Amino acid sequence: MKYLIIGGVAGGATTAARLRRLDEKSEIIIFERGEYISYANCGLPYYIGGVIKDRDELFVQTPESFGRRFNLEVRNLSEVISIDRSKKEILVNDLKKGSEYTESYDKLILSPGAEPIKPMLPGINQEGIFTLRNVPDTDKIKTYIEQNKARHALVVGAGFIGLEMAENLHHAGLKVTIVEMAEQVMTPLDYSMASLVHQHLKTKNVEFYLKTAVVSFSKKGEKIQARLDTSRQIETDMVVLSIGVRPDSKLAKACGLEIGQSGGIVVNKYLQTSDPDIYAVGDAIEFENPVTHTRMITYLAGPANKQARILADNLVMGNKKEYTGSVNTAIAKVFDLTVASTGVSGKMLARMNIPHLDTTIHVSSHAGYYPGALPMSIKISFAPGDGKLLGAQIVGYDGVDKRVDLFSAALRQGVTVHDLAFVEHAYAPPFSSAKDPVNIAGMVAENILEGITKTINWREIASCRENGNILIDVRTADEFELGSIEGAVNIPLDEIREHLEEIPKDKKIIVFCSVGLRAHVACRILVQKGYREVYNLSGGLKTYETASQRQSNEDIFEGDYIGHDDMIYQGKKTATVSAATNIGNLKLIDACGLKCPGPVLKLKSSMDELSEGESFRITASDPGFYKDVQAWAKITGNELLDLQQSGAEISAIIRKKSKPVQEIAQTGSKDATLICFSDDLDKALATFVIANGALASGKKVTIFFTFWGLNVIKRQRKPKVQKDFFGKMFGMMLPGSSRKLGLSKLNMAGMGSKMMRMIMRNKQIDALEDMIQTALDNGAQFIACQMSMDVMGVKAEEFIDGVQIGGVATYLEKTDSAGLNLFL
Ligand code: FAD
Repeated sequence: MKYLIIGGVAGGATTAARLRRLDEKSEIIIFERGEYISYANCGLPYYIGGVIKDRDELFVQTPESFGRRFNLEVRNLSEVISIDRSKKEILVNDLKKGSEYTESYDKLILSPGAEPIKPMLPGINQEGIFTLRNVPDTDKIKTYIEQNKARHALVVGAGFIGLEMAENLHHAGLKVTIVEMAEQVMTPLDYSMASLVHQHLKTKNVEFYLKTAVVSFSKKGEKIQARLDTSRQIETDMVVLSIGVRPDSKLAKACGLEIGQSGGIVVNKYLQTSDPDIYAVGDAIEFENPVTHTRMITYLAGPANKQARILADNLVMGNKKEYTGSVNTAIAKVFDLTVASTGVSGKMLARMNIPHLDTTIHVSSHAGYYPGALPMSIKISFAPGDGKLLGAQIVGYDGVDKRVDLFSAALRQGVTVHDLAFVEHAYAPPFSSAKDPVNIAGMVAENILEGITKTINWREIASCRENGNILIDVRTADEFELGSIEGAVNIPLDEIREHLEEIPKDKKIIVFCSVGLRAHVACRILVQKGYREVYNLSGGLKTYETASQRQSNEDIFEGDYIGHDDMIYQGKKTATVSAATNIGNLKLIDACGLKCPGPVLKLKSSMDELSEGESFRITASDPGFYKDVQAWAKITGNELLDLQQSGAEISAIIRKKSKPVQEIAQTGSKDATLICFSDDLDKALATFVIANGALASGKKVTIFFTFWGLNVIKRQRKPKVQKDFFGKMFGMMLPGSSRKLGLSKLNMAGMGSKMMRMIMRNKQIDALEDMIQTALDNGAQFIACQMSMDVMGVKAEEFIDGVQIGGVATYLEKTDSAGLNLFL
């Protein structure tokens, strides 16, 4: 038997080796267009980045060593240019000699792979613009970087390989900008999972533009200029196109083999093409996906290698072994993250009208009490009826690989989420928890299927809010202070049973916490207390916040310059660093392994033990800590001296800030009294802007809150108080706290005040609540008018801490020494 194999890398070389192991007598010839065979194409980005240092490591075999070991002929630099099926011959171009010849076969094997897509954009063929498929491409990129001392690279396309390239170019010392046409990176992931990757890329100082396409390239001096469809120009030293690949099925098509809708070679379950004497494997074939039952192409090395083994067996032993398709199990390292997926995403299932349910969980890589536990986010999709697993996506740091492999194996077996809940796994604290993340994903999904819990996803929150539904944040008050979903009320889980009277039964209730676990317990309490429409926000605040914040990271290199020392200095820093701070020997607080809110709670309790002016370093592994520590420092007035992220570890240095010294008014300075009469948000803001300004300039400030102004200083969560009928009526009609205030103009049913708050946030102006706290901290005296309280049925317990109750006399006394007296 004479076998000819076209393509000498993943599929081709593996087929040849297995053929020889099964059949010592046959003649086997490999034709490879390139110089190298059986090399590690998956390792190419890492060689460019310098992670793989020795180029020789990329070569698993040379043509000579492979030929010798398996007693076969490797004809490298030999391109097959056509197939004559009637004569069972191929036409070969010998690239070394520049001559052509024919070679006959009994059986022909096609493993030509896939080719990178290079769109016909103006200027795309100029020097410095690359694609990456093989060793020569790799050599060209590496040499170009070295010879041109490239400092900046533009990566077009943010798929798995695009991101691997971005990371490796960054590792090689280049600044990297990514431009991606889709609204997210890594399209096999759902948006909410990709958003975790977006937020991580931001911490790595990678610039990236989403929903943006490159429309042309041009030369500008030594630089390449890429014009985007937003009219923005990006100047760069080099470009790597990573837009995608397509099956290299030209030869097959030209000789009349059946080609499928996605452009791949059609094969049957024995990997035989429409010609019984020609078989095919790898990136060039299309095959039925076991989940969607549609024909798809899999561009992965694992399936190519496994197909090769089946194919060789069928050639030698007759068509006996069946290929059952790939569930596209893929994994990639993206800086410190590991990102993996298997099966089909929720987005794709929706596009294909395949009924499905999804759930997202955020868990730890292993037992939280054992050092080094790191967060892991998992989203699974499953069938609504029998709960059959349809897909899984994981973003995490540690242990992602073994979980995705478990999901992959489960998918191949057609298991249900009920089975996942009970998958038996090896457990000891350094490796997992007694309930592995895979089990937990199964259990949560099972709860959904069995109607024990109802969930909504982060996208539905906006419409829920508009429809007047109730959002309850069941985290602690400290966590709530750090930020929540706008419009949410805070009822900590442990207090929910005492507040049932305040939660209406006729409204839809959306409950959430950090990740969904406490919310699940709260939902179960409410449901068992007779509430019918209770929903847990899937993935909790973590998913909501990650997915709803800004995703792209634009213009971060603006203002960069090259210093006299030839180093690039960046105009914008990601960390708040106070270089001049003498921090001395710092106490280290280890909050690694704690999940939100653990790190912040540890931060608070550790800070309580410090004296003013002392600092400590705290390390945490929960990614949310990067943002939380900044918010916490702002809220508490402590000073964040340094914030860094290295690997999965976030490190912050915080100094307990001395209380501002109260400057007593100097001779000639007068005090200020303000009357806060209105509960319009804008007027309340004006009151506190003036009050804080007056305090800053050394004045003593007294604010007298009367009538509607009392609503400004109501606490958000109030204790139960006895009220008469009118008090209760007023209580229902009036804003419950400063967070509920509307604008005096253009309020538009609350939209105006939300916009105002959003704009203030964007412009980094303190919120009203921060201003109120600042005024109190700086010694402002708040007096609530006793008479107004009596009339409106407001009780002292409803106010924030620090409010005194007084009458008009108290106020008038203060006006005596005031040079400023305002009515707002
Ligand atoms: P290939 O391995 O690409 O081999 C095809 C060979 O056929 C080529 O060498 C080509 O020169 C030759 N050829 C084509 N036409 C002819 C002709 N007419 N005559 C002679 N020779 C011809 N997959 C993963 O699973 N994980 C990863 O981490 C991963 N990383 C990757 C990183 C990079 C940079 C690249 C390019 C790919 C990566 N892949 C990865 C994909 C993986 O390499 C492919 O899925 C796999 O190699 C496909 O095997 P194949 O045999 O079909 O094609």
